[in-house]
Amino acid sequence: MSGALSLENVTKRFGNTTAVDGISLELKEGEFVALLGASGCGKSTTLRLFAGLETATEGQVMLKGKDVTQASASARNIALMFQSYALYPHLTVQQNIAMPLKLRRLNALQRLPGAGMVSSRARAQDAEIKLAVAQMADMLRLEELLHRKPGQLSGGQQQRVALARALVRDPSAFLLDEPLSNLDTQLRAETREEIRALHKRTGYPFLLVTHDQSDALSMADRIAVMIAGKVVQTGSPTEIFNKPASQEIATFIGHHRMNILPAGAGQSLHSDGSKLALGVRPEELSLVQKGGLQATVESITFHGEETILKLRGPSDVILRSVVRGRANLPDIGENVRLGAAVESLHAFSDDGQRKEITQ
Ligand code: ADP
Repeated sequence: MSGALSLENVTKRFGNTTAVDGISLELKEGEFVALLGASGCGKSTTLRLFAGLETATEGQVMLKGKDVTQASASARNIALMFQSYALYPHLTVQQNIAMPLKLRRLNALQRLPGAGMVSSRARAQDAEIKLAVAQMADMLRLEELLHRKPGQLSGGQQQRVALARALVRDPSAFLLDEPLSNLDTQLRAETREEIRALHKRTGYPFLLVTHDQSDALSMADRIAVMIAGKVVQTGSPTEIFNKPASQEIATFIGHHRMNILPAGAGQSLHSDGSKLALGVRPEELSLVQKGGLQATVESITFHGEETILKLRGPSDVILRSVVRGRANLPDIGENVRLGAAVESLHAFSDDGQRKEITQ
């Protein structure tokens, strides 16, 4: 593999727990990858393996063509941002952003011999640090805030300072672990745009770890879906959403959980003599006048811009249909018909794997 950063057949075990199970994942130059999966599937461990905060039990970690499997986190120079980004409360924005560079200089100075040399070199570095901080402040629109302390900033501004602090040392990649989890809905949407724009401007490879499929779908160029320590599908957001490789992935991705009609429940699609389960997203399943499946309305829930109908279909399968806008709604207990366009159907074989529907 030739990407900026990659894991090659990496396994990480903690005692009897296999947190990461033979993963190969590449982060190319300039690419934005989201690692998406439910809590406990091994996402954070994968990120920590990339960063050098964990050492692989098996396999290799490569950075720009070099094997860094045994290299320390500081040798890899990978920027990290976590859910709680804890700025230093007693330092100004300027000092917060400068901190990683100051720490790096301190480490370097400790290795230098003569004190005289140290002070002239330190002055030159002070100027470099100031310049680097000014550039980050410009990129993240923080110029006006450089002399404030974190307590005098809004949540969004604090987030931007944390981003600036993570990126100021010109990292080889930027890894973000659930950076939006603590934000309210509006700030979350704004920060998504902010992070995407930052990726475009910096061109660094970004790896975002999230359990939130909206974060992954809206920000990433490529999504790697993780289940139980394995990457089970990688693809663009549209590929993952429109062609999920398995029933498990299909029901995980999507704001509304995909409806699954088990094989035999009202439809008769076959493949190699075996029946297929059918999937259809609630937004694609609508009330129709004739044809389709018969179902009874069990409940109706109003959510503002949309209303969710819960219905009992053939073989007692529970289905959901999302109705948008001001459409006429049926009554509870009413018998209705449900239809979906053939293009919106997904088919899955007995073992849960996707099958293409041929007409
Ligand atoms: P995620 O980020 O997807 O929630 P993690 O990578 O944090 O998942 O954890 C994956 C699995 O590895 C879990 O079962 C977790 O309990 C286990 N695990 C993670 N870190 C450690 C550790 N330091 N020691 C023991 N088990 C761990």
